[in-house]
Amino acid sequence: MLLLIAAIYFFYINVKKIVGNIHLGRDLKINDNRRKRWWLMFRVAIGQSKMTVRPVSGIMHILVYVGFIIVNIEMLEILIDGIFGTHRLFAFIGKYYYVLGSIFEFFAFAVLFGCLIFLIRRNILRLKRFWSKEMTSWPRTDANIILITEILLMSAVLTMNATDGILQIRHEVHYAFVGSFPISSILQPLFINFSTNTLVFIERFCWWFHIVGVFAFLNYIPYSKHFHVFLAFPNVYYSKLRPKGEIENMPSITREVKLMIDPNAIVPAPEETAEQFPFGVKDIKDLTWKNIMDAYTCTECGRCTSSCPANITGKKLSPRKILMDIRDHAEIVGKDKAKKKEKLDDGKSLFDYITTEELWACTTCNACTQECPVNIDHVSIILNMRRYLVMEQAASPGELNSIFTNIENNGAPWQFSHEDRLLWANNLEMNIK
Ligand code: SF4
Ligand code: SF4
Repeated sequence: MLLLIAAIYFFYINVKKIVGNIHLGRDLKINDNRRKRWWLMFRVAIGQSKMTVRPVSGIMHILVYVGFIIVNIEMLEILIDGIFGTHRLFAFIGKYYYVLGSIFEFFAFAVLFGCLIFLIRRNILRLKRFWSKEMTSWPRTDANIILITEILLMSAVLTMNATDGILQIRHEVHYAFVGSFPISSILQPLFINFSTNTLVFIERFCWWFHIVGVFAFLNYIPYSKHFHVFLAFPNVYYSKLRPKGEIENMPSITREVKLMIDPNAIVPAPEETAEQFPFGVKDIKDLTWKNIMDAYTCTECGRCTSSCPANITGKKLSPRKILMDIRDHAEIVGKDKAKKKEKLDDGKSLFDYITTEELWACTTCNACTQECPVNIDHVSIILNMRRYLVMEQAASPGELNSIFTNIENNGAPWQFSHEDRLLWANNLEMNIK
């Protein structure tokens, strides 16, 4: 009971910190199209529709995801047994207990098998997307810790059931008879010659290992990329619903442009304040809360980077790294805020993490947002950081500067006035009927 309370308390504290960090971003109202959003969440987050685009990893991931949820339903009985000192409290449901136990075992094995394959893909086959530059030692270790923990937890469940099954028929100690479940019974020959005391020790050890392991894992998750198991759902719910390529204009600038084109036009002043639409993004506080939630939801799977044309052609840009940088910086700013209460400035900005070379390498093709299994919008972050460079720093690349000057002077991106656009046709003989 004490362990349960401590686990929930520390988990709550850690989640509160992350929620606080997400709220370092500026406000953004998203409450439109609720029905569409629920459907999207059901399809993409629960149904994992984007995962199966790559069938091997997609199907394995679904097995691990569903399996981990189902196996942890068994935790309910383990928790109640722990609190009241009972053993297999729900055994009284008879054959249904056997059926449920068998299903749990099937999924425990699926999780174990899936995690083994993932470990092999990461560490032996060394898939390129798990070994690129931003996957430094911590992200790689984090992924391995998650996979190894899940393997150990599932092994504990199967070993517990195997020894329990033998103890049920020895009658030297009282173990409720529920039968031997199909997968753990395969392991029983390993334990059959052990003394009853040793079997009881192994069974109890696995029981404690499982419950303490789950509590410890629960409290590890907020420090890990694995936090996506919680954030994937709200993150997909609050996805951008407009077409991917539609770029968000600043209302105040749009108004200026409309008035430049037609000085007599009646264009009402926008209701949005400068805080809602700053001139681009320099630091965490200029991002929206959704941008920061994107960063905390990133699973570091690398699907975005592996489909990014800029990255594939050897440019410095990796969309995954942009998200990882934002999360790292949000952590530091969040800690800073907790210490100093008021100040959000740790002396660094996002430009200390993300270089202009990376930002200008983006073609805005949206392959990254299309591939991302949790609907992260990398492009809006990249474009808003570029917007800051252009509008606040006048630091756009030379090619863009001449385009901007031409638009300002000629109303077109070329060096010629739009009035001269048809000069090329002056000496041509036109035969228009
Ligand atoms: S939009 Fe930019 S970051 Fe995303 S895949 Fe295309 S080039 Fe890469
Ligand atoms: S941004 Fe999306 S696709 Fe890219 S690594 Fe993170 S979760 Fe994977």
